[in-house]
Amino acid sequence: MDEKAQEILKSLAEDVAEAASYLRELGVEGLEGVSSFEVAPRAELPTKRTRAAAPVPPALRRNATAERPPPPPPPIRRTLPPPPTRPSHAEEPPDILYQSDHSAMPTKRPVRAPSPDPPAPRETLFGDITPKDELSLGHPGETFEDIREDIGECVRCPLHQGRTKIVHTEGNQKARLMFVGEAPGADEDASGRPFVGRAGQLLNKIIEAIGLKREDVLIGNVNRCRPPANRTPTTEEARTCKPFLLREINIVRPDVIVVLGNTAMKNLLDTKEGITRLRGEFQDYRGIKVMPTFHPAYLLRDPSKKREVWADMKKVRDYLGETKGKKAD
Ligand code: URA
Repeated sequence: MDEKAQEILKSLAEDVAEAASYLRELGVEGLEGVSSFEVAPRAELPTKRTRAAAPVPPALRRNATAERPPPPPPPIRRTLPPPPTRPSHAEEPPDILYQSDHSAMPTKRPVRAPSPDPPAPRETLFGDITPKDELSLGHPGETFEDIREDIGECVRCPLHQGRTKIVHTEGNQKARLMFVGEAPGADEDASGRPFVGRAGQLLNKIIEAIGLKREDVLIGNVNRCRPPANRTPTTEEARTCKPFLLREINIVRPDVIVVLGNTAMKNLLDTKEGITRLRGEFQDYRGIKVMPTFHPAYLLRDPSKKREVWADMKKVRDYLGETKGKKAD
């Protein structure tokens, strides 16, 4: 071996020792025997330089050594932290969905391996929750007042331009039964209350027909501002406003939600079906029974459809009767 080759070899050995020294400071074990001037036999020399062993100019190496803090006294064990725990579909519902009965929750959490990127949707009892959904779940412990505060003097969608009053969800916040409509009409816009016009009067009668009073139930709409000429809210307008309604539903967790008409149904249920097909059969929204039925405004135009609505409401009444007292208030 000539003198030049020896020099290269020595420089390589220094690099390896330098890298080993860094790794030891990080707590990596099993580097015994890798010391500053040990020159490995040719056969064991790396043929390809790795990132860690890249040559560092001597001046820089000195600076690095001088600025490095002294090595920590005890060697750090290179054990991985335990993987994060997550609720599983069957065993643990997320807190946010069960505000009032934490005592019933199991304390032992199943362990799942951490998920690599891209971030996987959070798993819940009733399906995957994407970041978009999180908007609709609100915050644990939030109240209707918090939601109203968030809504504020809303200008999130163009409907604010023609509104007189924002029409918030109204009624019993411990209700077992909730009604969801589409959007305010002229009377609601003027009064700031949902379903107070002619369709609202009919809704009151429907509620009374199953032995309840308006004060017993909760009544809301997908959109809180009146669309011009009572047109159907656009998908974007509904998408903007709906999360507030869904947050209220998460607070109340009624036993049954009656969705009135196509717009309410499609916005609550992930379905392409129309109201005529789905009405009269219980559907599911995050574990809550949903009964689609015709909108009272439609009944005003075609009173013959009252028969179907009555059939649907009897199913609701019977279900509420069968499950009475089974839900923690
Ligand atoms: N129609 C609706 O959908 N909602 C109301 O509040 C009034 C009429």
